Amino acid sequence: MSQNLSSNTYATQKEICMCGDLDFIRISKTPQNPKREFYGCAKGNKEYGGCGYFRWVDDDTPVIREEKFNLLHMLYKAEESLGEVRSLFLEAEASRDWFKDQMKEA
Ligand SMILES: [Zn+2]
Repeated sequence: MSQNLSSNTYATQKEICMCGDLDFIRISKTPQNPKREFYGCAKGNKEYGGCGYFRWVDDDTPVIREEKFNLLHMLYKAEESLGEVRSLFLEAEASRDWFKDQMKEA
């Protein structure tokens, strides 16, 4: 039964930074992200002897981020092909009309 847990790992996993310390939630005070919560290395940045680990609490997991990227890429590709199909269709319509005219004249 343990195999089925992998997809939920991120939701239940405790945040552990690279130096193995438990990260804790802090509040961002930067103007760009005011009052936004993030997980940070308990020791802090490298200058304080920590690893500088950082992740927004409400941020997507890397897996979800990758999924989103892949979906957007697929959507982009689909729109691209749709554009190609559309122009092929218009071309086909134009040559059909041209042939129609030719038939009328013949
Ligand atoms: Zn750390």
